[in-house]
Amino acid sequence: MKTTQPPRTVHRPATGRSPALDLRSLQKTHGRGRQAVTALHGIDHAIPSGSFTAVMGPSGSGKSTLLHCAAGLERPTSGSVTLAGQELSGLSERQLTLLRRDRIGFVFQDFHLVPALSVAANVALPLRLAGRRPDPHRLEELLSNVGLLDKRNRRPAELSGGQQQRAALARALVTHPEVVFADEPTGALDRASGRDVLQLLRDAVDDGGTTVVMVTHDPQAAAWADEVLVLADGRLVDRLTGPDVTAETIAARMAALGV
Ligand code: ADP
Ligand code: MG
Repeated sequence: MKTTQPPRTVHRPATGRSPALDLRSLQKTHGRGRQAVTALHGIDHAIPSGSFTAVMGPSGSGKSTLLHCAAGLERPTSGSVTLAGQELSGLSERQLTLLRRDRIGFVFQDFHLVPALSVAANVALPLRLAGRRPDPHRLEELLSNVGLLDKRNRRPAELSGGQQQRAALARALVTHPEVVFADEPTGALDRASGRDVLQLLRDAVDDGGTTVVMVTHDPQAAAWADEVLVLADGRLVDRLTGPDVTAETIAARMAALGV
């Protein structure tokens, strides 16, 4: 297997601008009483705007819970999440829905495309749901960026996994979201298709100024990020930045943690 390293060009320090995402004493307990499971034990971390962050850790360490709380899909038990300057705990369900629709993009391991809609209609869906008319030029540009212009009229089932994930990424970006959350976006893809998706996420950060937060198990995928956060048992136990963000160093640190 090739162990190509992603191009390491940009490392943006957290200067001036307010963070895209600010987690303060973030704590989340699922369930109640004897069934209660504390998935996050107080996470403090700020993610700079226009950066790419990878979240790693063993299965059950709280990665998905962290993403869901950060994206307003789940309410924290205590602590705060501030997304693009907006503290989420004060928002109603309706306001959270609008925030997710207008300011956040999501990419999932299993794509979550609508089977009955064409690729182009899937990509335009967030705009349609917001009652906005998709700009045909913007749509064409996005489809072209992800290499799917010639597949625009196909249904998801007619596409490879990599193509489906690129369509899902175009859909996540169509509203120009401040933050894109990706939960194992390359988990179901072969190495080459995964690379394409990672390159597109990297481009969204470097060229589009998007903030990307990506959960992954794969040190090679995490090496595309500017910063790697490591969770274990619901706690932030390690952070890698700058020259430490290589597949080898990440793998070594994970191995040291017994992951
Ligand atoms: P990861 O994504 O790192 O695998 P999760 O955030 O999915 O971890 O889960 C963290 C912990 O919280 C695990 O112990 C898991 O079983 C538990 N958990 C996650 N979601 C729920 C839920 N909806 N109800 C009860 N427990 C949950
Ligand atoms: Mg998970």
